[in-house]
Amino acid sequence: MTFTVSALDATEILDSRGRPTLNVSIRLADGTAAEAGVPSGASTGTREAVELRDSDTTRYNGAGIQNARDHVRGELAELLCSRTWDTLADADTAMNELDGTDTKARLGANAIIGCSLAVARATAASAGQELHTYLAPSGVAPRLPVPHFNVLNGGAHAPNPLDFQEFMIAPLGAPSLPEAIRAGAEVYAALRTRLHKAGHATGLGDEGGFAPDITQPEDALHMIVAAITDAGYTPGRDGIAIALDPAASEFRQKNGTYLVAGESLSSADMINRYEQIINDFPVWSIEDGLGEDDTAGWQQLTTTLGARIQLVGDDNFVTNPAIITQAIIDHIANAALIKVNQIGTVTETLKAMAICRQAGYAAMVSHRSGETPDTFIADLAVATGCGQIKSGAPARGERVAKYNRLLTIAAAHPDLSYGLTDKQA
Ligand code: PGA
Ligand code: ZN
Repeated sequence: MTFTVSALDATEILDSRGRPTLNVSIRLADGTAAEAGVPSGASTGTREAVELRDSDTTRYNGAGIQNARDHVRGELAELLCSRTWDTLADADTAMNELDGTDTKARLGANAIIGCSLAVARATAASAGQELHTYLAPSGVAPRLPVPHFNVLNGGAHAPNPLDFQEFMIAPLGAPSLPEAIRAGAEVYAALRTRLHKAGHATGLGDEGGFAPDITQPEDALHMIVAAITDAGYTPGRDGIAIALDPAASEFRQKNGTYLVAGESLSSADMINRYEQIINDFPVWSIEDGLGEDDTAGWQQLTTTLGARIQLVGDDNFVTNPAIITQAIIDHIANAALIKVNQIGTVTETLKAMAICRQAGYAAMVSHRSGETPDTFIADLAVATGCGQIKSGAPARGERVAKYNRLLTIAAAHPDLSYGLTDKQA
């Protein structure tokens, strides 16, 4: 189905951390209107597509996005309104060509992904399809993903002494998406009570998880396992499992060691530590267990633990189809995190996910630590049948917006399956 864009505009808005980001609005010639909010990360991979910030220190400490906004209003609007398009992929390719760099650095990946998300949403609506139907690749069975609720925050997302960034609960054993979301919210509430009773602060990190004064990752894991039990659930793959995102690039030192709770650990020490953790706790998935440049360490990690748990590449993969293709050849990880703004178009995001499917790698769709109420990723996760999403805690509006969108999809489509794909389970 062809489409014609009649108007494209962008506004500088605030994300969930109070930093500027883009809201893009679009109108098609048939009158269909749509908007998209652009997410923004804090613990970013060095090879991510480039988020254009103004560097004008008189505004938002240099974090303004007026240049990116003006690129949407100017060059990108001129391009998208210049002709009739056959597909979203054609429009995405043309935006990349107009940018002319490998990293979307000239026009800004934030500008381009905003346009791409808005075009996708508008063309779906114009076709009379729900976004999760419209985005579904041919031959792929859509399904409702297992929500990975980030209930305890550290690292770059919280001011506490905990070096590991994310401690997530994953209701792998829940019979349905609504029951998974109920489990997540009940464990979250139980964790708040438990932390409070233990004398910890229950303030929240950037993704809505609690940010207590805990130093050792194992102490955080004990708290979470206890909260799962307190809430009446079984810790483990049959009930509620745990997923970690240490985001190890953030605590890797210049000499190649990892600084965890004040202790310098080699890559081999880290792998041993993870092995002990998965022996002692129901951890089913570890993302960014080692730093993005620690290729040899990643290969050893994959050899040692890849048959037992999911190993997710985020900072090292940056949703980049070429990088993921090479990682598959190099036997690095067995899953990829998927963030639309890391690569900068919907088309390239879908390509990265197709590469994962073909190679037998899992894929987990992800929010960013800086978010808007935009729920695009909920539809993306369903459409691609990847079986997994992470969107932070079951709290804070910008996080629950995605979970609530999944609940709405589930209610409207009682025939959709829930959970990991058969291969992952
Ligand atoms: P970010 O964190 O959005 O700050 O990059 C999320 C993650 O590391 O997965
Ligand atoms: Zn990550």
